[in-house]
Amino acid sequence: QKFVYDFTEGNKDLKDLLGGKGANLAEMTNLGLPVPPGFTITTEACKVYLESGEAPTELRDEVSEHLTALEARMGKRLGQADDPLLVSVRSGAKFSMPGMMDTVLNIGLSDASVEGLAVQSGDERFAWDSYRRLIQMFGKTVLGVDGDLFEEALEEAKRAKKVSVDTDLAAADLKKLVKQFKKIVESQARRAFPQDAREQMDLAINAVFDSWNTDRAKLYRRQERIPGDLGTAVNVCSMVFGNLGPDSGTGVAFTRDPASGHQGVYGDYLQNAQGEDVVAGIRNTVPLADLESIDKKSYDQLMQIMETLENHYKDLCDIEFTIERGQLWMLQTRVGKRTAGAAFRIATQLVDQGLIDEAEALQRVNGAQLAQLMFPRFDEEAVTELLGRGIAASPGAAVGKAVFDSYTAIKWSRSGEKVILIRRETNPDDLDGMIAAEGILTSRGGKTSHAAVVARGMGKTCVCGAEELEVDTKRRRMTVGDRVIEEGDVVSIDGSTGKVYLGEVPVVPSPVVEYFEGRMHAGADDADELVAAVHRIMAYADRVRRLRVRANADNAEDALRARRFGAQGIGLCRTEHMFLGERREMVEKLILADTDDERESALATLLPLQRADFIELFESMDGLPVTVRLLDPPLHEFLPDITELSVRVALAESRKDANENDLRLLQAVHKLHEQNPMLGLRGVRLGLVIPGLFAMQVRAIAEAAAQRKNAKGDPRAEIMIPLVGTVQELEIVRDEADRVIAEVQAATGTDLKLTIGTMIELPRAALTAGQIAEAAQFFSFGTNDLTQTVWGFSRDDVEASFFTAYLEKGIFGVSPFETIDKDGVGALVRSAVEAGRATRPDLKLGVCGEHGGDPESVHFFHEVGLDYVSCSPFRIPVARLEAGRAAA
Ligand code: ADP
Ligand code: MG
Ligand code: MG
Repeated sequence: QKFVYDFTEGNKDLKDLLGGKGANLAEMTNLGLPVPPGFTITTEACKVYLESGEAPTELRDEVSEHLTALEARMGKRLGQADDPLLVSVRSGAKFSMPGMMDTVLNIGLSDASVEGLAVQSGDERFAWDSYRRLIQMFGKTVLGVDGDLFEEALEEAKRAKKVSVDTDLAAADLKKLVKQFKKIVESQARRAFPQDAREQMDLAINAVFDSWNTDRAKLYRRQERIPGDLGTAVNVCSMVFGNLGPDSGTGVAFTRDPASGHQGVYGDYLQNAQGEDVVAGIRNTVPLADLESIDKKSYDQLMQIMETLENHYKDLCDIEFTIERGQLWMLQTRVGKRTAGAAFRIATQLVDQGLIDEAEALQRVNGAQLAQLMFPRFDEEAVTELLGRGIAASPGAAVGKAVFDSYTAIKWSRSGEKVILIRRETNPDDLDGMIAAEGILTSRGGKTSHAAVVARGMGKTCVCGAEELEVDTKRRRMTVGDRVIEEGDVVSIDGSTGKVYLGEVPVVPSPVVEYFEGRMHAGADDADELVAAVHRIMAYADRVRRLRVRANADNAEDALRARRFGAQGIGLCRTEHMFLGERREMVEKLILADTDDERESALATLLPLQRADFIELFESMDGLPVTVRLLDPPLHEFLPDITELSVRVALAESRKDANENDLRLLQAVHKLHEQNPMLGLRGVRLGLVIPGLFAMQVRAIAEAAAQRKNAKGDPRAEIMIPLVGTVQELEIVRDEADRVIAEVQAATGTDLKLTIGTMIELPRAALTAGQIAEAAQFFSFGTNDLTQTVWGFSRDDVEASFFTAYLEKGIFGVSPFETIDKDGVGALVRSAVEAGRATRPDLKLGVCGEHGGDPESVHFFHEVGLDYVSCSPFRIPVARLEAGRAAA
């Protein structure tokens, strides 16, 4: 097994082995771009190290071999006293984990070689600046020294010299600082800063391996659902120097705007700087466009390279580069993160440029991004006081109480408060706070700052670099001019415009929703450009998808919205709402009925009401299928609460005026009380024990359909029986339904073509699906109940109690109620599909329940061959898109 690859040996498809950074450094090397030579240690080596606590034995020799080759090529040895080769040791996992893993620059410097570097470069200040940086980074990330100690010493040195930026420190000051830094290392790490270059490198390599398992890294992986066992690669890269004076510098750039997708020059540049200076916000960066006047040759070359990269990766790339005395070097590239809106725009732009086709465009966006675009936004008309303006780093409209540290953010959000985390700038330690907050606001840093990158990755609203804000974390407040915002004051931040408001700003629907609602069409302004892109992508998805998408809707209003959103029918109409409100009394009468007469009269009053509901519904879905589920929930849900009623009756009794009806009700409530209502008298069981109930519902459906037919409508009702466990249950209900339908048809002179099917939501139903299909014309998988009954836990009871523990222990990657559990519940679905179709080849198959609108689950349902998914109206566009992505 080979553990080390030269940059010339890898390529961009080897991310599993070389990590993203290593694979792309290799790709750029092979494209002939100027990349400082180096090599990559594989993730396999990291895995061995993490499992056994030691690097594989062959690794040392392989590293030596590659190092020797690198030294030969560069014409100097690592740490060589009179002319040292210096390298960086850089982490790089398969998925980029911003700020999570640590990189050490300038490895190879020592008390001896710093002098050599000074002579060779002719710049003593530069040599000592590099050395102090090495001790600082190495001390912090490899030896575990508190980084603040170095920062404070640096600040102190600047104060003593009365200068404000590090570049104003002279060689002599830096020499002093190096002495201090070495002392800090000695006292904190209880060892001297290593003077041997190879030891520095080996320790740094192991530290990168170790950094895979820091708490921060683990938290980030959990949040982003990145598997914990991938490991990181390590890149050893010969150093190039951006801190060699004003003709040197370092920068970051995007090939397009990651917020809008527009082409242009986007990035930041910092003269005479190294490494992370540009994103850490220690000095003010200049916009990348300014590089043109600073160093035209490098600027032109960079623009050329960015174009090469875009055409090569056929996507937005972000890059890190350094200029050393007028010579441009590429240090990193990757396909860049982007906002949801930019993802849609870029995908269509790339189609127009002929770089990708429509199928590929579908893969460049996803349902989660579309869902994000459907969030409401701030009402521009109703804004309160504008506090300031920063950079629109990650879109969305967030309102919450101002908090100035992560600890408070977490504490307050746990107690149900919405908070906005406000920091001067964020760092990896703020991750938990960022997760807890509604949005993030910083006063420093640009689009590539930690806050911006992480927030975009999480889909969280973020405004950064709002410079008018003076953030004072110690006193837990910020000031803007003479305005003071204390902890707990409400602020609103708009991640799409960068605006920050005092107080709560009301929100309005997003343009994408306005578009789906049919209230907005393509046009010229910014929102419409997004709408046009969404429109095109949705058209691609609709063209290729095989799954149909229906809505869960119980009334005409929802049904009409669902139609506007593209629903191709109703997959689940729950009838229980038709028993609520003022109709509850009739239901009470039905439940309390002692005689057939009483029961029949109760049902007779319900019939016309239900019929009227169905007429409206069928009209709103004219020409499209409407699946009506007969009554499902346990009856006690329609009766008063047991405790409340007991108290009422007891009070009345003590006053000796107990009401006869209440007494009977109480009796009934007691009788119907169940330990496990979820597993009790509900679904088809109601139909079997309450004479006439299902017959009444079927009659209401059939008469409504007949009326629509006679009004020249096109009703397509499907009657669905819930909670069936065995075909016998279904047969009994079915026979009765057939009788009722025949009666209605005869009476109205219509041919209704009603179909009758069942939900598959009990394991027994799934296991005997072949038999059940004898009596069912369609199956609709009720994956909510199926998940509950397969796992043996009730959603209402367990989500709050032990799911977090399960998620933390990695038993679930995600709640099985959110994304279908493919191995368990999914396996039952798959076998029921096969058995059902074996019995009845034209069996119609669908799914209703939350999973129908979940992206990952939609792909699964496509794969097992369902005919449709059904979900809530607002999820329909997401389901359409994902169904298209699954098929493309
Ligand atoms: P991250 O994953 O946090 O981006 P990197 O490995 O890219 O970490 O390194 C951090 C910074 O150091 C980057 O700005 C990068 O450009 C710079 N850097 C890394 N290696 C070198 C090198 N060999 N020469 C000059 N700068 C480097
Ligand atoms: Mg970093
Ligand atoms: Mg980097």
